[in-house]
Amino acid sequence: MTVREVRLFGDPVLRSRADEITTFDESLRTLAEDMFETMEEHHGVGLAANQVGITQRIFVYDCSHETPGARGVVINPEWQALDDATELGNEGCLSIPGVHKDVERSARIRCTGLDLNGEEISFEATGLLARCVQHETDHLDGVLFLSRLSPQLRKEAMAEIRASEWF
Ligand code: ZN
Repeated sequence: MTVREVRLFGDPVLRSRADEITTFDESLRTLAEDMFETMEEHHGVGLAANQVGITQRIFVYDCSHETPGARGVVINPEWQALDDATELGNEGCLSIPGVHKDVERSARIRCTGLDLNGEEISFEATGLLARCVQHETDHLDGVLFLSRLSPQLRKEAMAEIRASEWF
């Protein structure tokens, strides 16, 4: 397993829509393993393939500190809100180090997709896991959480990015 380089805000790959995955082979397994290792190295709760420069629709997540067993990989993810409830919660992104802002997300969702064998998976999620699924699926559509912020918070976030050492 290899820790891959995390792409940072400004890299065009983060604005690209990732492609559906149709081949379930050893290289996909290796990508998933590397993504787990990269996420763990940076103490993230989720990581989408765009963030390591790969435009394929796969993300990994680990919210097991909040929801026991909530660790896994989703390929070609989709999600649907189970009701109209939304929740404001603090969010950050490994591609935008040091920036944390409140984002409104659907509170209760069902996530569907495929596993590494191409088998269908489906689970309900609330709390951090629901937030994570929405954040990571956004990445695969080329959308960063900055786009989900109120105008005021987005302004603050952009100022923090411009002032950051990594930018
Ligand atoms: Zn992110």
